[in-house]
Amino acid sequence: MSTMSQAFQIASEDDLRDESRKTGTAVGIAFPTSKQDIEGALAEARRRRMPLTLQGARTGITGGAVPDGGLILNLSRMAAVEREENGAGLRVEPGARLFSIREHSPSGLFFPPDPTEPTASIGGMMACNASGAGTYLYGPTRRHVKALRVLLANGEHLDLQRGRDKAKGLEFRLGSLHGVLPPLPRSAVKNAAGYYVEPDMDLLDLFIGAEGTLGILTQASLCLTPMPEAIWAFMAFFPSSPATAAYVHALRQAFRMSKPNARLAAMEYFDAHSLDFLRRQTNAPASRQVPLPDMPPGSSCLYVEVHADSDSAAEEAVLSAVGMLPTFRSNPDAVLLANTPTELERLKLFRHALPEGVNAAIDQRRKQYPGLTKLGTDMAVPDEHLTDILALYEADLAKAGLESVVFGHIGNNHLHVNILPRTPVEYEAGQALYQNWADQVIAWGGSISAEHGIGKLKRGLLARMMGAEGMQQMRQIKQMLDPDFLLNPGNLFLP
Ligand SMILES: Cc1cc2nc3c(=O)[nH]c(=O)nc-3n(C[C@H](O)[C@H](O)[C@H](O)COP(=O)(O)OP(=O)(O)OC[C@H]3O[C@@H](n4cnc5c(N)ncnc54)[C@H](O)[C@@H]3O)c2cc1C
Repeated sequence: MSTMSQAFQIASEDDLRDESRKTGTAVGIAFPTSKQDIEGALAEARRRRMPLTLQGARTGITGGAVPDGGLILNLSRMAAVEREENGAGLRVEPGARLFSIREHSPSGLFFPPDPTEPTASIGGMMACNASGAGTYLYGPTRRHVKALRVLLANGEHLDLQRGRDKAKGLEFRLGSLHGVLPPLPRSAVKNAAGYYVEPDMDLLDLFIGAEGTLGILTQASLCLTPMPEAIWAFMAFFPSSPATAAYVHALRQAFRMSKPNARLAAMEYFDAHSLDFLRRQTNAPASRQVPLPDMPPGSSCLYVEVHADSDSAAEEAVLSAVGMLPTFRSNPDAVLLANTPTELERLKLFRHALPEGVNAAIDQRRKQYPGLTKLGTDMAVPDEHLTDILALYEADLAKAGLESVVFGHIGNNHLHVNILPRTPVEYEAGQALYQNWADQVIAWGGSISAEHGIGKLKRGLLARMMGAEGMQQMRQIKQMLDPDFLLNPGNLFLP
């Protein structure tokens, strides 16, 4: 006899996976369309003593939305976006997609977080505190959420407002729950690993970045930011990664000293293998074909975006930045400028095309070895270790002979190494490198996850970064808010 209720139906194969390509198991899945549906599904999970895995758009890459048994609550059908009465922000349901938030933003205002994948849902973005290229200037998702509705595991629905609902020191009150938060250590670099705790914190920040382990995010109010008057960008090519890193340091310093009418918004890096990989995508769909100039072998590339109060301020800042390029006088072709929406879009194609292309290549290889996945790092280091980490990645990858691309948010010293193993043996070799790099990053005071979160794939690394005491303190928080470990089992903590 079937034990399926009306709320839960049989999950399809697709429902059991996310962009990490990890696959799980589940007894059933519900697609709520109202607050009451969500409350009903949670009540049913509690009654049946079954854990609940939360899903948004399943674009996450750490297996966070992949169920580990139990039931699934998929929020993608609650996707309404409305402008607030005073026009200053947007009220969104958790399944609202990033592209829809952009479409609904009034002209002259925008929502800055941009985790590259426009189909991501705001619930997933808040749960992971997602970032992206513009995070260098605008910060991660957390900074743009002014109010949050959260359903706790005990069935209480809370409305939390930034500036109003705050901890007193580390003491908190959330509905009928109250207690004292343990003082968790925070990495000084860009960081999305583990719970966020600060004395006197806004309590909604406890749920942002908690990867759905402390509550279900059921509605949010987002702040919008005035669109800059002018956006200019350029792409420059460098003979080596140390030359790129030296330029990044110099540019950050120059903008810190200059007038605030032009701001450095993003700096994105692509190593020589990334450029080769993109050049080889000749049979890929048009969205993954990036026109690249011919550059000497071994060249790496930097994308720089400037947001300014006027076209003249943007032009002055960009020309001055271009003038600082060591290669510019000898080879002006090594710089591509963009200052119209079409040109900017063309340069930005890189950012999406590369991870998409890597995922497609891995899917191809999985046909021969179904267990194979990409190995993707997400680590950030303090400024003074940018050159060191680039050198470490390059030396280790060359020695191991592994196919890889290194790219990402170099402005935040945050690079993604994607290793594309051809065989299970190469996968193991890549894993070993990853563990060694993580130990070095932790020793340098960096973070093992700067934006993707931990999910189910990086629990071992989180434990290394937080240490036994840090993990115990995180468990204490989980126990205060979700004593039966009902929500998102297997995320952050081993079951
Ligand atoms: C090509 C590509 C490029 C990417 N680049 C970036 C990047 O540059 N920067 C970056 O930060 N990320 C990047 N990402 C990953 C990004 O984190 C996710 O796309 C996004 O944040 C997750 O949103 P989602 O709706 O797909 O969430 P899902 O994958 O469905 O879920 C992610 C996590 O959030 C939880 N969750 C979802 N909804 C809720 C809710 N309502 N309440 C509580 N918990 C919830 C899930 O349980 C899971 O743990 C990239 C992904 C892809 C595919």
